[in-house]
Amino acid sequence: MGGCGVTTTPRRSSWSGTVPYHFAAEHRPADLDALRRLVTTTPRLRPVGTGHTFNDVADGAEAVALTAFDTVDVLDDGAAVRVGAGLTHARLAEELAPHGLALANLASLPHLNVAGAVATATHGSGTRTGNLATQVRAVELVLTSGDVATVRRGDPDFDGVVVNLGLLGVVTALELDAVPAVDHRQVVLPDADVASLPDRLADLHRLGRSVSVFTRWDDAPSHVWVKWRDGDPDPAPGWETLGLAPATEELHPIPGLDPVHCTAQQGVPGPWVERLPHFRPGFLPSAGDEVQSEYHLAAEHGPAAARALQEVGHLLDSALLTSEIRAIAADELWLSPQSGQDTCSFHFTWTADLTLSSAAALVVEHALAPFAPRPHWGKHFALDVRGLYPRLPDFEALRRRLDPDGVLAGPWYDRVLA
Ligand SMILES: Cc1cc2nc3c(=O)[nH]c(=O)nc-3n(C[C@H](O)[C@H](O)[C@H](O)COP(=O)(O)OP(=O)(O)OC[C@H]3O[C@@H](n4cnc5c(N)ncnc54)[C@H](O)[C@@H]3O)c2cc1C
Repeated sequence: MGGCGVTTTPRRSSWSGTVPYHFAAEHRPADLDALRRLVTTTPRLRPVGTGHTFNDVADGAEAVALTAFDTVDVLDDGAAVRVGAGLTHARLAEELAPHGLALANLASLPHLNVAGAVATATHGSGTRTGNLATQVRAVELVLTSGDVATVRRGDPDFDGVVVNLGLLGVVTALELDAVPAVDHRQVVLPDADVASLPDRLADLHRLGRSVSVFTRWDDAPSHVWVKWRDGDPDPAPGWETLGLAPATEELHPIPGLDPVHCTAQQGVPGPWVERLPHFRPGFLPSAGDEVQSEYHLAAEHGPAAARALQEVGHLLDSALLTSEIRAIAADELWLSPQSGQDTCSFHFTWTADLTLSSAAALVVEHALAPFAPRPHWGKHFALDVRGLYPRLPDFEALRRRLDPDGVLAGPWYDRVLA
């Protein structure tokens, strides 16, 4: 028998402070045996990672955090890595460095828990790169029966299990595809031609391996963050063709904020984990007090959706800190917002004022409604998602099979998916 772990004073809110949590206890099991005992003796339990979600998807009666599950094993001569569910991408990158290994993509900051990021289909950007859940080649989880399961790419349940929203079991480890670590670079291209932004979106997104277009949907220039890795084609001819040139100073995604916590720009080479995210490991990211919303829609609707947002931009101004437009490649994962379609994704960082940000998100949802937007599972939204995912009934059947008593179903599930 293993150790028990600890039960800590539960966290009271999400990272941003904008989502209250209602946990009576937060359990941190020391090992697999302790976790199995916990899941079989706790009536209602939610797995929680780093709490970087902007809704109550992680909230519930009691929490389990896998901070003790923090091992990293390199597999198959570096083709893959087995990652304990307690790790963040920043910690994983530290562990991979001596092996010369990396992941193919990352989100805008490396502080996220790897299992929590995969569970909500967190993504970076890239017309040819899938979201972070597509890096997964096996999921190890403890079911609420206490059984331990490993589901591998190619297994019948795999496409349903990866993006799991913490509803199928407690994930203890993931096997991820790894790639050789090579230096990455990024530049920020100020783009003053705001009126033609919608028509240029596809060209902008093709400029590099990972591209983010930041705009406030007003007359201010947008900023195009282009990231590439050594060995990729030089993106400079592309941006010159579009009449763009790199900024000669460092910039923050939110206009006017000090870029001191941002990853290095101006084409300076550096490690993948210090270029693919916008924010550096070891620093507090972004603005802190904020709410985020994001909507994924089929890539071909990107220009029309951008025009629709430009028309309502003046209604967003008081709530909006910045907006980011990214491209993400299609996949087959049942609850991935990219399931079956290359997507163009419209992200909004709102002020922490929930009245203002909720009203602004409603304006966006109304503007994007003709394009069947799929909201980011981990961000604020009001949309009814039930008709948006063809495989949702299959996911529900899988959930009932793996967690028949609904131990892991919390208030978010009851409200959004039940
Ligand atoms: C500043 C900031 C920047 C962000 N940038 C991006 C971005 O670039 N791209 C993007 O797509 N998103 C981004 N996000 C959103 C974020 O990536 C997602 O919300 C992600 O799910 C957060 O993971 P977490 O572990 O912190 O969240 P949590 O709320 O702790 O967990 C998220 C979900 O994962 C489940 N879960 C956690 N651990 C486990 C486990 N061991 N087993 C089973 N289920 C588990 C939880 O139950 C919950 O459903 C950003 C968020 C912030 C705050």
